[in-house]
Parts: sequence; structure tokens; C-alpha cells
Amino acid sequence: MTFPGRRSAALFVSDLHIDAAHPSIARRFLEFLARDARDATALYVLGDLFESWVGDDDPDDAQRSVIAALRDLTGHGVPCFVMHGNRDFLIGGRFAAASGATLLADPVLLTLYGERALVMHGDALCTGDRAYQRLRATVRDTGWQRRFLALPVAARRALADAARAGSQAHNAALAPAIADVDADSVAAVLRAADVGTLIHGHTHRPGIHRFDVDGIARTRIVLGDWYDTGTALRWDAGGFELVRLG
Ligand code: MN
Repeated sequence: MTFPGRRSAALFVSDLHIDAAHPSIARRFLEFLARDARDATALYVLGDLFESWVGDDDPDDAQRSVIAALRDLTGHGVPCFVMHGNRDFLIGGRFAAASGATLLADPVLLTLYGERALVMHGDALCTGDRAYQRLRATVRDTGWQRRFLALPVAARRALADAARAGSQAHNAALAPAIADVDADSVAAVLRAADVGTLIHGHTHRPGIHRFDVDGIARTRIVLGDWYDTGTALRWDAGGFELVRLG
């Protein structure tokens, strides 16, 4: 969908999982960049833009097309911000230079039209899955990343494919509650940041959750994936809404 007659807004997306094996997703995202994002005040990609990313030195054709489209959008004057997800945490400086996007830390506190919001990919909140949190701590270690990136591309690809298969088997065996964010972890990050709003993706369970922490009203906005249709959060001075893109 387009937003006819609407004020421009900040747009948030996540969990596109762009992959050469599923060209419709990249096509949908390129349309979104060329149309809906064109008059955004900023575009935030909150992780898992790509299904896999083994280093900035060897993007495939689908990934190159996304980099070129982001370059076009940032060149048009729309600031783009990209956060790491659990699939593409090796996106680095060469990607940023080529796309014109700025890499965002996870978590990061943003001020949007005067409102503060804590922004995360969301995997760090899934603390019920202890095995995943141990893996996350390993692969986010800079020493581990340096050693991995020193391997030949083919070896990195083989390791990433094996990790992906292992993660699919692990996730298939997880109880649904364990695969979701942990309520105590959500409360802890909101309390620590002293903020009312949290925006994240990762769980592929789009929704808007309202609840209290320490007697203060809070909102957790969860972005959806892009497997069947695009989804985005649009946020402007009048408020926010989760939208499905036709
Ligand atoms: Mn994820």
C-alpha cells in the first residue's frame, strides 16, 4: 500500500530474511524502498534484513540489489539505519559505506517526534532459550568474529548453513513460550532505560502489547516478518500504526 495524503513518517521494518532462494521478498522490499520509503523521514531496519550474511566481502545478487536500492534511497536524502539481527550480525562497515546506511547498536534509545523509544532486534529478550543466549554470546564476541571472517568465503558459507540447520532444528523443538520474549527481561530493559515504549522484531509475532511496569504504562510494539507480505511500523507526530503492505 502507499500512504496517499499522509504526512511523512519514520518507518520501521525487520525480519525480511532476504535470500536468493526467495526472490519475491527482495522484490517486495525493493518496491517498498522505491515507493513507501521514498518520503519517509527515516527508515529503520531492525535486524534480519538478510537470511544469512557471512561478511561484507561477498554479497550475492539479491543482497547487491538491496545495497544498491538503499544507496539510492540514502542518496535521495532518506536516512537509513540498520541493526544487526541474529542472521546478519556480521554486517559491517563495507556494507554501511556501500549502502549509505548507518549501523545501529542493539539496544538503542531513539527520540521520535519528541517521544523516546527503546529499539532492539529482540533476540536478546528471548532469555528463556538459554542455549541460544550462550550461542549469541559466542558469536557476538569480536575475537570469534575476527577468526570467522578470516576464513575463506566457502568455509564461512558452509558453517553458516550448518548453523542455520541447527537453529531450525533447535527452534522446532522449543515450546512457543520459550521462543517468545521473556516478560521479566522486557520489564528489565524498559526499567533500565526508563522508557515507556519498546520496538522490536525477531519473534515474527507482530502486535502491540500494553502493560504496566512499576505502575507505569508501557507499550511493546512487535514488527512482523516479510515472508508473505511486507509489514512496517509507521511513526509520526500523530502516533504510530503497524501496517501491512499490499
Ligand atoms: Mn531474528
